Amino acid sequence: MLRSMVRQLPRRLPLAELHCHLGSAVTPAIMWGIAHAQGIRLPTKDYWEFRSMITVSPRSRSFDGYLRLFHWTELIQSSPLAVERSVYEVIGGAYRKNNVTTMELRFNPMKRNRGGEQDLDHIIAAAVRGMDRATLEYPVRPGLIFCLDRAFPYQLNEIIAEKAITWRDRGVVGIDIAGPESPGFNVADYRRLFRRARQYGLGITVHTGEAGPVEEIAQVIEQLEPDRIGHGVKAAYDPRAMAMLRERAIVLEICPSSNLNTRVVSGWDEFRWIFDALRRNEVRFSINTDGPEMLRTYIRDELATLGRLGILSYEEQLQVAATSLQASFVPNVSDVPLPVREPARRGEVEREEA
Ligand SMILES: [Zn+2]
Repeated sequence: MLRSMVRQLPRRLPLAELHCHLGSAVTPAIMWGIAHAQGIRLPTKDYWEFRSMITVSPRSRSFDGYLRLFHWTELIQSSPLAVERSVYEVIGGAYRKNNVTTMELRFNPMKRNRGGEQDLDHIIAAAVRGMDRATLEYPVRPGLIFCLDRAFPYQLNEIIAEKAITWRDRGVVGIDIAGPESPGFNVADYRRLFRRARQYGLGITVHTGEAGPVEEIAQVIEQLEPDRIGHGVKAAYDPRAMAMLRERAIVLEICPSSNLNTRVVSGWDEFRWIFDALRRNEVRFSINTDGPEMLRTYIRDELATLGRLGILSYEEQLQVAATSLQASFVPNVSDVPLPVREPARRGEVEREEA
């Protein structure tokens, strides 16, 4: 097929980004400005060197290498002023660059308060302020997701989830679990906490089926009953997980370039296979960046690449755009109701496996 014949989504079509980390979403030039405004001593005085410190390169092409890039971005964002500016810039930037009208931005507030030196509520209030400022300037409907961390002890994660509950009427729309694979982390420990968050109306998403073991996906679905799953690409290799995802209408937040960069997925051919499996099993998914500036890709680039390679048809890209709006934790961004979201009873899921 000729490249010129491949249709791309219209520029004016509103998009939702459901999986985007604050630490990887701020333009390097703005990060540089924020760092200097706060007098942070950076390891280099050269802007271009700084830029390569916080964006992907062949050096960072692994899961751990990718997480290491967050060291400087999280440090620079660790004050109320820095958080406010970061949130404001990301939401406005996504709207201007890609017509992203629904930006769900996720971060761990406890990785922004210098180990407890700064008050958590001030950090959160600053994020809300940044979101409000962007909303005054652009026709956007953003939301914040708080990330718990696999490497944190339960007690700290519990505080983050409780903060999300406290701030839920101010634009905090969900909770997530992110961070490195960690031996002390046990999905089952979070069952009650996540149920409580859900009772307060928060959306639930969890990073799984990415760098970790494939078996964890089914565990997460059963124990934490998420509405969405961060990545989840490995579910394609687990028929049981696929059945559970379909049954519960869980939406996968797929971030293609991120998975290629971390080598979680080996290449576009593997993605072609993964999307075929999702299609065959009627598993719903959205397309996201994970962190547009760190990964140097925007949501429209992701969709256009999948279209150009013939992995997703034009109609499927339209479907992805609609699914993302429907699956947003921000209320009322889509007129189309979600498919049944009642968690399947355990017995039903187990019958499916047989
Ligand atoms: Zn992520």
